[in-house]
Amino acid sequence: MTPSEVLKKYWGYDSFRPMQEDIVNSALEGRDVLAILPTGGGKSVCFQVPSMIREGIAIVVTPLVALMKDQVQNLASRGIKALSVNAGMTYREVDLALNNAAYGDFKFLYVSPERLGTALFRRYIGQMKVSYIVVDEAHCISQWGYDFRPDYLKIGELRDLVDAPVIALTATATPEVADDIMTRLRFEKKNLLKSGFERPNLSYIVRKCEDKKGQMIAVCNSLKGTGIVYVRSRKHAEELSQVLSAEGISSSFYHAGLGTQTRADRQLKWKDGTIRVMVCTNAFGMGIDKPDVRFVIHYDVPDSPEAYFQEAGRGGRDGKRSFAVMLWNSSDLKRLRQTLTVSFPSLEYIEDIYQKVHTFYQIPYEAGEGRQIKFDLEQFCAHYKLQRSSVYYSIVYLERTDHWTLSEDVDVSTKVQIMADRNDLYDIHFEEDALEAVLEVLMRKYTGIFNYPVSIDEDYVAMLCRVSVPWLRQLLYRLSLEHIIRYVPSIHATVLFLHHNRLRPKNLELDKKKYLMLKECATRRVSEMIDYVQEEDQCRSSYLLEYFGQHDSAPCGTCDVCRAGKDSKARAESDAGQSELHGEILDYARKLVAASPQGRWSLQDLLNHFAGPDGAIYGREEILSILSTLLDRALLSSPEP
Ligand code: ADP
Ligand code: MG
Repeated sequence: MTPSEVLKKYWGYDSFRPMQEDIVNSALEGRDVLAILPTGGGKSVCFQVPSMIREGIAIVVTPLVALMKDQVQNLASRGIKALSVNAGMTYREVDLALNNAAYGDFKFLYVSPERLGTALFRRYIGQMKVSYIVVDEAHCISQWGYDFRPDYLKIGELRDLVDAPVIALTATATPEVADDIMTRLRFEKKNLLKSGFERPNLSYIVRKCEDKKGQMIAVCNSLKGTGIVYVRSRKHAEELSQVLSAEGISSSFYHAGLGTQTRADRQLKWKDGTIRVMVCTNAFGMGIDKPDVRFVIHYDVPDSPEAYFQEAGRGGRDGKRSFAVMLWNSSDLKRLRQTLTVSFPSLEYIEDIYQKVHTFYQIPYEAGEGRQIKFDLEQFCAHYKLQRSSVYYSIVYLERTDHWTLSEDVDVSTKVQIMADRNDLYDIHFEEDALEAVLEVLMRKYTGIFNYPVSIDEDYVAMLCRVSVPWLRQLLYRLSLEHIIRYVPSIHATVLFLHHNRLRPKNLELDKKKYLMLKECATRRVSEMIDYVQEEDQCRSSYLLEYFGQHDSAPCGTCDVCRAGKDSKARAESDAGQSELHGEILDYARKLVAASPQGRWSLQDLLNHFAGPDGAIYGREEILSILSTLLDRALLSSPEP
């Protein structure tokens, strides 16, 4: 079958979108390819179509664990066999899944990056006939990018085990980051395919205002349909959601501090329209495919164009007119500049924090690898009388340098259930005796552990196994990664997972050049954001596109700059976009008039309708001018036939 036939047969689409076909063809030629398409641009098809054509199974690495099940179901509904491996599965289930991946006729295997290194995975990977290594959200592999995840570096190693081309996909990569992705994924030859990033139906609006609350309410009131309000802090999310509710606007809030279940519930309610406006931190929205989001409001200015573009891009995936509204004032800029200073403490300070964290949790030199620390930032800062934000950013920095992983707000286990079948346990070969010893003690001392989660006494188990408590925790963690046991979440905490043994001060050599480079990248992102909101003469869309390396794009005609007629290029050209929008308002006005009972609306009614309470979306002047044209042409005075 040809790619187009596959697309039609399984997805029912008549044609590829721009670039999709090139990406598919390049992958079919067996070349490594990096595809950059905007959010909603249709990246999935780019790897799914070639995988359907090539023999074997595609391994899809994605950080969006919550969405794996959806993806698999989505493929299943099209008659395509797909699997996923995730943390909630039993050892048996994972074993079965991987066995199927190796010997069944499955086409896709979804995994999260941290699972690539497990013994179980490595045992089977050699048996699989892999068609492609697919890397979704590929920007996570670049430390110069805005969302680096050290676990992603493991994907490079996969290339030693598997001989298959790579298809990497992302929605946000500057030219430098794109280059880095291809290097990290060990591309044989650079091969970057990129589509235009224009979102013609999305209007970028930037509003400088002191009364952000009022503006937010105005936007929510003047636009119909579902929306998102992004804020910086969890507290803000709660507060602003209350503000909206008090105004009679259906809303709720969402952030990482809420329990897993609450988050899932709210997301669902928002998706099905029960909640109209979600006020949230950036924890919300990744990978959510809700097509009819009519507006995305940024209540605070984000610290990178990548984040902004990604978040704003959740609006209008269905191609209908939508708005990305950024509210700002001078205190945002002040805060952003301050963040930059605190987010890069001096290297000496960072090194000191590294040692203090180990000392605080009593980890001696040359020990600690694999340990999970329940990290309490408040307690730590209080003990050493340190400033919270500096400590936090030091820890984040050390995550970037791969010394540890910081997981905020994870469900930390205090109970254990054995997920493997009793009989299976005899067949499992353990690389380490200690793992076996732990399992044996658990089975012997805790009846029911096969059936339900039991609370275990770590000191007691450690003593019986002749290991230290920290060592025991590491063993338990490894058993859970292998799906033999399950840690049962009971509390919410922040966890530091140590990648290496504690280094002595003379050996902890943080790279000065790298530090300066990272700082420079962050500075550039922040100052691009500051310039973006302050920009008065360049089309918003053009500005963002240029940042992602797409030069000389046409002005969008619908952002605030274009609409004010200020973009010099737009003025020079024929003002096509502007008239498109005018046409849109005109059409809409006609429909309204036609639908109204008396067959007519007063000018004031129309004005209110378009402008919202205080001109939040369309400028009053602008509407007035369009509407007077309508009046001139006598379109408003008489009912439409
Ligand atoms: P991305 O991962 O780039 O954000 P998705 O792969 O989730 O985007 O696709 C977004 C939407 O576009 C999906 O609903 C998908 O079915 C649709 N889509 C993708 N390719 C096509 C196409 N060629 N024709 C029509 N619809 C498409
Ligand atoms: Mg996607």
